[in-house]
Amino acid sequence: MKNDCIFCAIAAGEIPCFKIYEDDQTLAYLDINPFSEGHALVIPKTHAADISEIGEDALAALVVRVKRVAMHLKDALQCDGFNILQNNGEAAGQTVRHIHFHIVPRRKGEAVEFKSGKGDMKALEALAARVRM
Ligand code: AMP
Ligand code: ZN
Repeated sequence: MKNDCIFCAIAAGEIPCFKIYEDDQTLAYLDINPFSEGHALVIPKTHAADISEIGEDALAALVVRVKRVAMHLKDALQCDGFNILQNNGEAAGQTVRHIHFHIVPRRKGEAVEFKSGKGDMKALEALAARVRM
C-alpha cells in the first residue's frame, strides 16, 4: 500500500467505494464522476502507478478481470457496447496514479463526453447494488 494513494486506501477498505466486484487481487467499483451510467474502474489491490510499473503477470490478471466485469455489466445493464480506457501519466489525463481500467458502458444513440461530471451518490449506491457481482 502506498501512502497518499486514494485507490490503495479504497483497496484497504479505509475509504468507501461503490464496490461491484472483488477477489484476492482485484477490486472493481463505480466511478464517482461517471462518463455514462455504469462507468466502473478495475484496479489491482497492489499499488502500481501505471502500465510502466505493473508486472506482466499482474497486468494479465487485471485485464482478465476487466473482461469479466465488462461482460457482467453488459448483461446487467443491457448496454450496446463499452469503451475500455486506461490513462498513463498526467499528460494522458491520468489523475489517480494507481493503475486502473475504465469500463464505460455505451448505448446506441447516446452521446458520451469523456469528461467527469459530478456523480449522484444515491443513484450510484442503487446502481452498485443492482450490478454487484
Ligand atoms: P484517470 O483520469 O484515468 O486517472 O481516472 C481517475 C478516475 O477516478 C476519475 O474518473 C475519477 O472520477 C475517479 N475517482 C476518483 N476518486 C474516486 C473515488 N473515491 N471513487 C471512485 N472513483 C473515483
Ligand atoms: Zn495505490
